[in-house]
Amino acid sequence: MTSLAERFAAVRAGAPAPVQLIAVSKTRSAEEVRALYDLGQRAFGENYPQELREKAPLLPDDIAWHFIGHLQRSNVKHVVPLVRLIHGVDSTRLLDEIDKRAAASGSVQEVLLQVHIAQEETKHGFSSEEVREVLCGPIPPPERWPHVRIRGLMGMATNTEDPEQVRAEFNGLASLFRALGSQDWMAPDQFTVLSMGMSGDAHIAVACGSTMVRIGSALFGERPTRQA
Ligand SMILES: *Cc1c(COP(=O)(O)O)cnc(C)c1O
Repeated sequence: MTSLAERFAAVRAGAPAPVQLIAVSKTRSAEEVRALYDLGQRAFGENYPQELREKAPLLPDDIAWHFIGHLQRSNVKHVVPLVRLIHGVDSTRLLDEIDKRAAASGSVQEVLLQVHIAQEETKHGFSSEEVREVLCGPIPPPERWPHVRIRGLMGMATNTEDPEQVRAEFNGLASLFRALGSQDWMAPDQFTVLSMGMSGDAHIAVACGSTMVRIGSALFGERPTRQA
């Protein structure tokens, strides 16, 4: 059995700075989060609004919470006040709702647009063409959604044993990210986040140019599959 400190060191070695590590704490107790916090980790990712709302108040306020799950519009109002970055934005209707709720709380919400790069039908996200329409459309995003700041893209590769397929999907997302990253409306350093890579494929994602990895089981151990 390895210790949490050993697993943390191994994960950091595989995704060294400046790659940002988001420790995915879905299904983990506040005590487990606290143990990793005590080793220095400050960014944690959650998938379920209710779980986030229960856990966040039990933990230090200098944690940066990331919402990495599929977000329903009805939950935006609960999530916006708690999180630094929403990774899985996959529709303009969701952007409309985030803008509305961030405006109501007098904030600007940072988001990533999720792009569907996997073969599986079940993974959410915009197509490449749709992302291009959002970023390069007639109304620039800061005018259309003044309380939203688009920081970059997020994607999940196919869950496959074939590393070449995963590599091709991550390379595709990385080139889309580079191609779309120089719009006139973007502030310097705005569109700089490419969130890709999980426990099983982070090494490939980092080699393909990921700037942010989302790692759960390699840090905390396997989750019950029901909640994977
Ligand atoms: C659960 C989850 C992760 C972490 O998965 P692991 O395989 O445990 O590292 C990363 N990203 C998203 C979107 C997730 O839902």
